[in-house]
Amino acid sequence: MFRRILIANRGEIALRILRACHEMDIEVVCVYSKADADAPYLRLADRAICIGEAPARDSYLNISRLISAAEIADVDAIHPGYGFLAERADFSAICRDCKIAFIGPSPEAMAKLGDKVECKRTAKAAKVPVFPGSEGAIEDEEEAVKVADDIGYPVIIKASAGGGGRGMRVCRNEASLRSNIKAAQQEALAAFGNGAVFIEKFLEHARHVEIQTLGDSHGNAIHLFERDCSVQRRHQKLIEESPAPGVDRKKIAAVGEGAARLIKAANYCGAATVEFLMDEKQNFYMLEVNTRVQVEHPVTEMVTGTDIVKLSILVAAGEHLPLKQKDVELRGHAIECRINAEDPDRNFMPSAGLIDTWQVPGGLGVRVDSHVVQGYRVPPNYDSMVGKLICHAEDRPKCVARTARALREFVVGPIKTTIPLQLRLMEQSEFRTGAVDIHYLERLLK
Ligand code: ADP
Repeated sequence: MFRRILIANRGEIALRILRACHEMDIEVVCVYSKADADAPYLRLADRAICIGEAPARDSYLNISRLISAAEIADVDAIHPGYGFLAERADFSAICRDCKIAFIGPSPEAMAKLGDKVECKRTAKAAKVPVFPGSEGAIEDEEEAVKVADDIGYPVIIKASAGGGGRGMRVCRNEASLRSNIKAAQQEALAAFGNGAVFIEKFLEHARHVEIQTLGDSHGNAIHLFERDCSVQRRHQKLIEESPAPGVDRKKIAAVGEGAARLIKAANYCGAATVEFLMDEKQNFYMLEVNTRVQVEHPVTEMVTGTDIVKLSILVAAGEHLPLKQKDVELRGHAIECRINAEDPDRNFMPSAGLIDTWQVPGGLGVRVDSHVVQGYRVPPNYDSMVGKLICHAEDRPKCVARTARALREFVVGPIKTTIPLQLRLMEQSEFRTGAVDIHYLERLLK
């Protein structure tokens, strides 16, 4: 097993990984930018190294500084967390060249699943359901029109190298497709350095259902069932839960097996999430694969009784997955609320600054993953998430009640957070019946 790991990240996920390492008797090296110099979790690290100024490109995104820190601290492995460098195949490759284990997939596996066109091809071969649409990248306007005629409007144009909800255009007729295709290619080239775009069927009413998977370096791959992340605003998830309410369990098991086949086909080692949209008839269509641990991984940990971060460290060290598919069982229901320092009443304006009140909920079935303590100052430079509330109970109604109770106990000030909005959601009948689609939150906020 690794002796010492460097965590190339910050905030709650840095603390989450640190906790897993310490329980495994692994020393932790944290890195930090000047904006995070007072972050309380740094005191828990065995060593903390400043890697630069506040802007991420000078610190958390700066590969040479991270590698220098890793070499100075003599670590065996780097954990990238999520965001920042987590999905950069070149970072995974540089770690390998420097003989530092990257806790995540090889650059080859990351490239195979990270590029949307390539991923769709691999998924099709693994018999994973994908959206009807173009086989590969679209060459010209005529080809685009032919594909759209075959699958029917509306269609969506997407960038193969796209991400973060950018580079997508919905077209409802031929005229709109013709006028958008070239612009989409140019925009993709400018934004992602790769002009490849493809077309797929656009679903009007869908739920976001994703499958957590894990693979090891010995060809084993399993899934840990699903998370429903339909409560979103501008493609940003706000609430996630498992299991997905009302979904046929046989169907999910089959989709899960498909997701496991896909990561096995890519020789994937570590944790990955295969994202799908699900239509009203519970047909699944793969969106993309996230080749890293996700923000919402605790939801799956609560219902499966696993520790996804520890498991990904184990497999990165070359061990076999200690779980077989038949060992994975769902128990009860879990809901996660992302607590963001944003003001939902002011169009989610960021609300950075001093937190002088931070009173966290507790009690049976309540987990708070956060790096914040009273007196912490939220730096304006990074993501606005200040923590996650994860509740677990025997069934969904009890879990909704527990989450509402915990949200009422959660007092944060004077900064604004998403807590009041999440509490409101727990009280909505649509949410309580469990059938909200990806546009639900935007309708509620109108
Ligand atoms: P990104 O990598 O930018 O996050 P995704 O492919 O994951 O892109 O899509 C992001 C979001 O865009 C989805 O969660 C969904 O809300 C919407 N979307 C993407 N593809 C479709 C589609 N074919 N039909 C309907 N909505 C879609």
